[in-house]
Amino acid sequence: MALAPYFHRSAVAASQVLAGFDEEAIRRRLEEVRLELFWGADVVDSAEGRALLDLSIRLIGRLYPRIRLVGPDPGDQHEALLREINPEIETADGAISHRVVLGSTPAEGDALNLFAGSKDWDALVSTRSPQDVGDSANPFGAGAAACFAAANLFRSVFLDDSQLDEDLAFSTLELDSQSTRDPILLSASTPQARTVLVGAGAVGNAVIWALGRVDTSLELHVVDPEPIEASNLQRYVLAGTGDTGLPKVDVVRRTLRASVAHSIPWEEFVATEGYDWDRALVALDSADDRRQVQASLPKWIANAWTQAGDLGVSVHPWNEGACLRCLYLPKGVVPSQDELVAAALGFADDQHRAQVRQLIYNGQPAPPQLLEESAAALGVDPNALLAYRNRPIRDLYVEGICGGAVLPLDRVGRPAEDVQVPLAHQSALAGIVLAARLIGDQLGRGAKSAAATRIDLMHRLGSHLTQPIAKDPRGICICQDAVYQAAWDEKYGARS
Ligand SMILES: [Zn+2]
Repeated sequence: MALAPYFHRSAVAASQVLAGFDEEAIRRRLEEVRLELFWGADVVDSAEGRALLDLSIRLIGRLYPRIRLVGPDPGDQHEALLREINPEIETADGAISHRVVLGSTPAEGDALNLFAGSKDWDALVSTRSPQDVGDSANPFGAGAAACFAAANLFRSVFLDDSQLDEDLAFSTLELDSQSTRDPILLSASTPQARTVLVGAGAVGNAVIWALGRVDTSLELHVVDPEPIEASNLQRYVLAGTGDTGLPKVDVVRRTLRASVAHSIPWEEFVATEGYDWDRALVALDSADDRRQVQASLPKWIANAWTQAGDLGVSVHPWNEGACLRCLYLPKGVVPSQDELVAAALGFADDQHRAQVRQLIYNGQPAPPQLLEESAAALGVDPNALLAYRNRPIRDLYVEGICGGAVLPLDRVGRPAEDVQVPLAHQSALAGIVLAARLIGDQLGRGAKSAAATRIDLMHRLGSHLTQPIAKDPRGICICQDAVYQAAWDEKYGARS
């Protein structure tokens, strides 16, 4: 009962990173967890601490069904937030199995303890001892610490404890696994740059969570044409169960008052608002959409991704190393969507493929006969497929086949790029690092040439996380094309 209404979606996400766990095994394991979130007075008394606490609740409240909040301030607002995220949540009573300790106050009682703190740009997580929280107004270290703590909690619950971060420090300014070597103060003054966030999904939510806590006069345009669906709640840190059906940009606007919401597709946005953008934050999940943003030639791009193996952020100053399109050029012959869907339904012949292509093109459901043939080919109960008789065939593919509603998740295999479901803490960290890239660049601490930062939250944090990225070697990208280069130069002035 205590699991969130969107638990199925969380199970899909968890199964994509955990070998050998199906939905039932994930449910059983989560039901066993008795989690305590503990914080002391230092957390309540500092902006960093409050940020750490807020995001911790928003992350763990989505997955764990039994949580006890233990802190010095009146807990009503935090309990209310938990309930907004999961109305079914229960208070953990009795013996605690796992405890997340925020700030420097030690907690009493047995349990596996994960300690989280922050110092300005730096996230601090430890299995050994309580961590301080800094007194700056910078939310980036604290936000990242909440994500790393949630990732360690996840690994402790589902894997063994050998992969926990014993003493982690991560700089959101320098993007490496050590404390910031050359700190810079977060300043309130903002250069007047035209800045746009493309995508208000899971990553975009975390971008806004962070920017909403930065004292800035930045006017941020946010572009996303879609409404919030119930399944999004599994990883949208700003959304509660009451937000289903609202435009995604509306939920963002609630948190960042200085944002300008555009509930339209990118091509319509640039057609009406213009093609000159000093900085574009790309929080999209398809390669096509990313290539489209790059082709409209913003001056500077930062891009975030999440996938089963890792998450990351890349930055692209034009013409210095790879552009965004270089990263997302097709690497070879990719199967067409109708081939992917037909194969997933168990069909390899041209006749079925043509029928599937037609249904995708028209947005129609598969007829019962096709569903029965598919059930026979896959060896599953026809009723599981017939449940999709009135829904577009793409829903059957995304939800039923890739999402595990028809085929058991352990039979699904590696999901195609566009149907991967990240865990909440993966998307949130990608968004926080993306927002940190924007502010770092504004403060004159951006990358001089294209670079990518990769983080794998299923393992201990590695080193050398950030690497330069070169242009596509085939010379076929728009950044190697004289016409596009001239167009960019004309917009922003030729580089000296
Ligand atoms: Zn390129």
